[in-house]
Amino acid sequence: MKRTFLTSIGLSVVMLSQVFATTPRNSSEEGNEAAPNSTTYWQQHVDYKMEVEMNVKNFQYTGTQELKYTNNSPDTLQTVFYHLFFNAFQPGSEMDVRSRTIADPDKRVGDRISKLSPSEIGYLKVNSLKQDGTAIQYNEEGTILEVRLNKPILPGQTVNFDMEFAGQVPQQIRRSGRNNAEGVALSMTQWYPKMAEYDFEGWHPDPYIGREFQGVWGDFDVKLTIDKDYVVGGTGYLQNPEEIGHGYLPAGKEPKKMKGKTLTWHFVAPKVHDFAWGADPDFIHDTLETPSGTTLHFFYKDNDEIKENWKNLQPKTAEMLAFYNQYIGKYPYKQYSVIQGGDGGMEYAMCTLITGERKFGSLVGVTAHEFAHSWFQHLLATNESKHEWMDEGFTSFISDLCMNKIMDENKPNPFEGAYKNYIYLANSGKEQPQTTHADRYIYNQAYGISAYSKGEVFLAQLGYVIGQDKLLETIQRYYQDFKFKHPTPNDFKRTAEKVSGMQLDWYLTDWTKTTNTIDYGFKNVTEEDGTIKVEMERIGLMPMPIDVMVFYNDGSMKYFYAPLRMMHGEKGNPFEVERTVLPDWPWAFPTYDFSFEGKLSDIQAIVIDPSELMADVDRSNNTFQPE
Ligand SMILES: [Zn+2]
Repeated sequence: MKRTFLTSIGLSVVMLSQVFATTPRNSSEEGNEAAPNSTTYWQQHVDYKMEVEMNVKNFQYTGTQELKYTNNSPDTLQTVFYHLFFNAFQPGSEMDVRSRTIADPDKRVGDRISKLSPSEIGYLKVNSLKQDGTAIQYNEEGTILEVRLNKPILPGQTVNFDMEFAGQVPQQIRRSGRNNAEGVALSMTQWYPKMAEYDFEGWHPDPYIGREFQGVWGDFDVKLTIDKDYVVGGTGYLQNPEEIGHGYLPAGKEPKKMKGKTLTWHFVAPKVHDFAWGADPDFIHDTLETPSGTTLHFFYKDNDEIKENWKNLQPKTAEMLAFYNQYIGKYPYKQYSVIQGGDGGMEYAMCTLITGERKFGSLVGVTAHEFAHSWFQHLLATNESKHEWMDEGFTSFISDLCMNKIMDENKPNPFEGAYKNYIYLANSGKEQPQTTHADRYIYNQAYGISAYSKGEVFLAQLGYVIGQDKLLETIQRYYQDFKFKHPTPNDFKRTAEKVSGMQLDWYLTDWTKTTNTIDYGFKNVTEEDGTIKVEMERIGLMPMPIDVMVFYNDGSMKYFYAPLRMMHGEKGNPFEVERTVLPDWPWAFPTYDFSFEGKLSDIQAIVIDPSELMADVDRSNNTFQPE
């Protein structure tokens, strides 16, 4: 029996509803208050009011923070925790030591933190803290502030925390910082004392070691005083454009003459869980109105080598917005900003910071990815530290789909790269389950492939399992039901179950909580008295429904579908080929056979999963060719 790869013998099939060719139905814009999958769902609420003064000579800043914290949980809280992210940028911090001891360190970090001088390190210090007017005890532990409350916070109660803090912006190493590689003065992300999240699992005071984070939903009111030459872009709507100018006023309108060497920028951001900004005295600030009512802002250095790309990026970003609005659901804010800064690309509330000295395709690609995070991270705010595959993977899925369209890539399978990466990881022996905390992978590479590629395949392959149309409907319904909340993996799975009418617990369990792999193959194909008998075997542990395509010498095809018994359902026919639905394949049965009339001499090949959307770790046994 000859065993080869489908692609190597030049065969392909036309799919009826290729995910990249399917237009999703428009869903209603109505949200609902209660999360539909849990009658006991609740989430904490924060309202921040901050006034901050930045010294652009020594990159030190001071601030006051009034935080109104509402305990919507059924629990009485005796303790609260804040993140002090900038403390990570000090020699001997957990981020520093981890970077110097992991086998494959992030090159951007390496041992750079260990070499920072006192004037180059980052810090965030709390100088005073009061609860409802009374001073309280607090204790700084690395990047976490642990606060023992004077009075417990009762269920349903709101308390006020008043804080004075002081910070120093680190030399830019990872994401945040001053004077990045492209000369952007301030990449101000994760820069303020930020209340940690308390949810149904309890507190999440994760130390900042370099990876993902999450936050509490609420409203932000931020006043930022900075040298008047600096142009600021970030989270939130500017309240005083007539005092600021700097591209925030309609063309031709001049700002008021302001006294002094500084300007105070007043931003308001409703219903977000983070606040970030970037600033530079040489920023060009362009805006672009879009038909959906969202204004796009672009901030980039006045540098002749990048200007053309940054101009051309602007209409592409408008196309991305239209794509995501259609495929996921409407972006609810009136503003999104693409800001040059940081060390690659990172998503924040209503904005992203990306490096800008890139080729055009890369500039569009990174923007497409980070912008998609507005949905899969910001609005659908899963706990990224625990479910990193849900934000990075889902984002990669939708941004690959978007790039395929807006850049006219027209790849037959826009997710091919993700499948290759995942299959490489699965066969490498370095894979850990996706339930691994984002900071605690043995290898950075295993984290990266697991979160981005295996997470992307989770969705692309779900399209194989339930059908591409149901997948797209699931994504829209998931957004409608869980935007502005903290959905869990099970919430997504339940949405897919409701949309498809199929049972999918096995899919979530095996794919995300284990390193079980998929491997189906042909065991034997024989012909007797005009009947062809096909015997298949399940070699991997992970269950799957099976598509089998028969390719005849005359160019015709026959499609057989063996549903998985534990799914209790069947997908629609994805191919423009007549289908025979076979009896269910019960997972526990290691082999399965079916027969059909014909002669082997008329057949060019029989192929398991001709769409190659099933992440079979060994495709060499998926194609049978008669001798
Ligand atoms: Zn990402």
